Amino acid sequence: VRRRGAVRGTRLAQPTNQVDRGGRLAERRTVDYWCADDHHTTATFAADVGPPAEWPCRTCGAPAAPDHGAAPRATRAAVFFRTPLDFLKMRRTTEDGERILNEALAGLASARAAQSTGRDRRR
Ligand SMILES: [Zn+2]
Repeated sequence: VRRRGAVRGTRLAQPTNQVDRGGRLAERRTVDYWCADDHHTTATFAADVGPPAEWPCRTCGAPAAPDHGAAPRATRAAVFFRTPLDFLKMRRTTEDGERILNEALAGLASARAAQSTGRDRRR
């Protein structure tokens, strides 16, 4: 039986061995940026696009500007350090803590009592 017009399984995007070596690159320009700490950063952009007024410093991550000394100081949001105890105090009051501690101690004491009586029975 001859099958006509059989659809072969082909990939939609065939990998190509073509390399654009020697091809003309798009026009580009390199812009210098300096952050407030005077770290120098260069960034390359397409020539037909205006360079951004701010670029992150490669050294410290602070905003950098194309002009010396024009970059604003990095303003980091104040971080409130909280310890696990602080988070616990947000959830529970001291009275809650006393009650939970007493419950746990009572549970532990009853478990120990049950264990010791069980041991006594085995003897
Ligand atoms: Zn910097």
